[in-house]
Amino acid sequence: MTTLFITGGAGFIGSAVVRFLMTHTDWQIINIDKLTYAANLDALEGAAASKRYHLAQVDICDGAAIEQVFHQYQPDAVMHLAAESHVDRSISGPATFIETNIVGTYTLLETARHYWISLSGQKREKFRFHHVSTDEVYGDLAPNDPAFSETTPYSPSSPYSASKASSDHLVRAWHRTYRLPVVITNCSNNYGPWQHEEKLIPLMINRALAGEDLPVYGNGQQRRDWLYVEDHAHALYQTLTQGSIGQTYNIGGSNEYSNIEVVKKVCALLDELVPSAQGTYTEQITFVKDRPGHDQRYAINNNKITQELGWLPKETFDSGLRKTVHWAVRLHSLKHDNETQPRVEMALITNHKGHP
Ligand code: NAD
Repeated sequence: MTTLFITGGAGFIGSAVVRFLMTHTDWQIINIDKLTYAANLDALEGAAASKRYHLAQVDICDGAAIEQVFHQYQPDAVMHLAAESHVDRSISGPATFIETNIVGTYTLLETARHYWISLSGQKREKFRFHHVSTDEVYGDLAPNDPAFSETTPYSPSSPYSASKASSDHLVRAWHRTYRLPVVITNCSNNYGPWQHEEKLIPLMINRALAGEDLPVYGNGQQRRDWLYVEDHAHALYQTLTQGSIGQTYNIGGSNEYSNIEVVKKVCALLDELVPSAQGTYTEQITFVKDRPGHDQRYAINNNKITQELGWLPKETFDSGLRKTVHWAVRLHSLKHDNETQPRVEMALITNHKGHP
């Protein structure tokens, strides 16, 4: 049986990967997670019941504790997602980003390297260290620039993207210098169920349903390339199992939209699923002072992963967003007042178009 370490498996993307692997493989999954504010164990409820799943509540910066987990479980591969990941938090408090994203990745690389050297035969040959990163390391694009490819030079803008860029460099150096068998993926903006409520799409859904303003940075024209989180989980699985050692793969859904377009799409779905007596939810949109250093445009060229590994996203932005809004509305209705509950349930039953 394959034993996989997933760091950050209680986060938004990590939990989607755990759910994917528990469903589609017979692997043993060891989730190494510090359980910061960004973790949500509710997203792992199904997995937690299985004997194939184990949670090690460990900080990736704690070398001794990480070494102990390697010693205990003898992994066949590591998929490294643990990170501080919210750009706004990196602006107000960069220190934890430097610590977790850079020192934490270094600590994990060193532990993995010593462990890998100690292996022999097939176990050593098949070992992989898969580093999960972001397209934000490339900086931003002008309106007519070609999309980011794997050879686009790094030019990060925020403390978050600079710390992720540093971690990518460390991983490449550990491959080049020590021959550690690594693969790296750089993915565009994810969305989907269980995303932290500070992020754009869940923030807008929750505020809209609460009757609050929908704050959009600057003029809302910043463009992002969106990918449904389950498509990302599938791409990570394919990269880990089929990707070539030392290679980087960009992952993206070719769904480029401006932030204001995304917010309007969310409002349109809410208008359909949970009609408000006050009118359309778009009336709640307000524009607020832009984020400092805000990147204008990201877009991913996904030719390499689609052609070499045969990965393709299953969701369009419209189908994935419908699933996401539907899921968030249900969760909101379960969490919040009894008064809106019957209205929400009724609207969902009436308007449901087959996307649970
Ligand atoms: P997240 O913030 O939702 O989850 C991060 C997880 O890491 C949490 O469970 C947290 O408890 C854990 N963690 C944080 N610091 C830790 C530490 N020191 N030790 C152990 N665990 C720690 O992040 P996410 O959105 O799921 O992103 C996962 C990875 O994917 C990150 O590396 C991120 O850079 C990358 N990524 C994210 C996106 C996106 O749109 N969210 C896009 C591309 C790449």
